[in-house]
Amino acid sequence: MTRRQLIAGNWKLHNALADSVALARAVVEGTRGTTAEVAVAPVFTALTTVRDALAGSHVALSAQDVYWESKGAFTGQVSAPLLKDVGCSYCIVGHSERRQFFGESDETVRRKLRALLAAGIRPIFCVGESLEQREQGATVGVVLGQVAAGLAGIPTESLAELVIAYEPVWAIGTGKTATPADAQAVHAALRAQLVHDRGAEFGAAVRLLYGGSVKADNAAQLLAQTDIDGALVGGASLVTEQFVAIVAAAR
Ligand code: PEP
Repeated sequence: MTRRQLIAGNWKLHNALADSVALARAVVEGTRGTTAEVAVAPVFTALTTVRDALAGSHVALSAQDVYWESKGAFTGQVSAPLLKDVGCSYCIVGHSERRQFFGESDETVRRKLRALLAAGIRPIFCVGESLEQREQGATVGVVLGQVAAGLAGIPTESLAELVIAYEPVWAIGTGKTATPADAQAVHAALRAQLVHDRGAEFGAAVRLLYGGSVKADNAAQLLAQTDIDGALVGGASLVTEQFVAIVAAAR
């Protein structure tokens, strides 16, 4: 089974329109000819503008979050059909910053996953343990638990477009990275559990990204691991040379 690697840039709360367009264009130019799939996730207000900057290119558009209801009296929310309408192929769900700062729970993540899959948007479903959980030796249990809770009740045939990102919380934005061997071990455990729960075909096909301070100088080693199918990149995705080098390190 060959899984095409995906390198996705999470721009978080950065970049007004002009900077978003400049970065999007630089990513298109810098990653032309790559065998990996590339996506960028700007803020909501820049989605349309970045979509236009990416038009006709190999770089896909992602959102950073979504609300599960498709319409109604939900002031301030953005639905999956609206993200589809604007041209998003991907949407990040359950990022640890949303779990930590905005009360995102396994239940809200599950609702968002369902809404995205129904709208035909590929979720990038984030899971990961805290430093305390890691120190207690609970990493694999926490990660498998988050995946099981997020996917509960969603039939396997609906999950063909699912991408899971393993992002140890202690590694996000800190400059600390899991060693390639540690990351591989978690990915392998996750894939084994998915094979067990969802069948061999699904387990072999689902893409598992690593995220957490991925940079130009550690990307190649991480991306060379058997069960690491790409990267979700935060800080380094805002720096063209860094992000381009990470894409170049994809296998
Ligand atoms: C992220 O935001 O998903 C992330 C991994 O951030 P960073 O690369 O900055 O650690």
